[in-house]
Amino acid sequence: MRILITGAAGFLGSNLAGFLLARGDKVIALDDLSTGRKDNIKEHLTNEDFTFVEADVCEPYHFEVDQIYNLACPASPPHYQRDPIKTTMTCVMGTKNALDLARKTNATVLQASTSEVYGDPECHPQNESYRGNVNPIGPRSCYDEGKRVAESLCFDYQRYHGVKIKVARIFNTYGPKMRADDGRVISNMIVAASNAKPLTVYGDGSQTRSFCYVDDLVGGLAAVMNETGTSGPYNVGNPDERTVLEVAEIIKQRLDPTLAIANLDLPEDDPRQRCPDITRLTSETGWKPTTDFAVGLAATIAYFAQQAVH
Ligand code: NAD
Ligand code: UDP
Repeated sequence: MRILITGAAGFLGSNLAGFLLARGDKVIALDDLSTGRKDNIKEHLTNEDFTFVEADVCEPYHFEVDQIYNLACPASPPHYQRDPIKTTMTCVMGTKNALDLARKTNATVLQASTSEVYGDPECHPQNESYRGNVNPIGPRSCYDEGKRVAESLCFDYQRYHGVKIKVARIFNTYGPKMRADDGRVISNMIVAASNAKPLTVYGDGSQTRSFCYVDDLVGGLAAVMNETGTSGPYNVGNPDERTVLEVAEIIKQRLDPTLAIANLDLPEDDPRQRCPDITRLTSETGWKPTTDFAVGLAATIAYFAQQAVH
């Protein structure tokens, strides 16, 4: 198949590109390199099934493809809050341009949505029928509301133009090819511990997240794209829920038990708890995550060590 991945030089996109190429697909990788890195895809640059295009998804583009994975968008809070207006435009115009291309080429679009559409959830765990609790004017809203509009656009293109869409709500994911300066909790803590610095815990660390290893996540995206019977939305993630403090303790024990923990302010609107209910995707396709947190963490620590992040 000919497959376009937008955001292909980023963490998830580059892992997805590797998965699709290994399966025998032809991949067009579009990215503006704003938060992604060419280094993430350098192993594919000599592969004749792989084409890299440096471009902004906010501008229309055209490629003859069968499937589109629309992943382009900064995902880490410090990154998406750096230029929040651009983040909203990337969600809205980037998704519109992917849908317009799908309309012209009859391709299927998978939209990379997020657990952030649930905001600071009042129900737990979150299933896909929960409509969310998002602050529309806070510092996270460029991303949360941008992604909500992106979902809305997908379903309107399906209703009005018959475009084939799939919506995947991705929960916190970690693994190789994350940036060392990404700002997310797992990368921050591994990098800090590797440099004998205190591990930063925002607030008292009692907030929870549920972490999915990237290989499992990529398999989940492919399952949503190829094996589901509806357009979704489908939660994709690992229900293995932990407090942030627990994550800090695990990383400390693995890398340096003598390290201190530094408590910093909790960012505004930081969700208190988050855990995916993945029943819908699992019952339809059989997909479920299989990588234990300890195993995924070991692979991620090895990746950062090999990158010699100091
Ligand atoms: P990332 O920042 O590593 O990757 C995003 C990629 O998109 C980068 O390569 C960046 O350069 C590119 N990009 C950003 N704006 C662009 C634009 N205007 N034009 C072209 N390229 C642009 O983030 P990621 O973790 O790989 O996330 C990928 C997608 O998955 C995002 O849409 C994100 O919202 C979604 N997601 C990720 C997570 C997670 O835990 N990683 C969770 C939920 C949703
Ligand atoms: N967090 C933390 N220390 C860090 C980075 C993040 O305690 O160095 C917290 C953050 O406040 C949030 C959780 O860890 O409660 C997950 O943050 P991340 O940015 O990884 O993902 P998101 O907030 O988007 O779920």
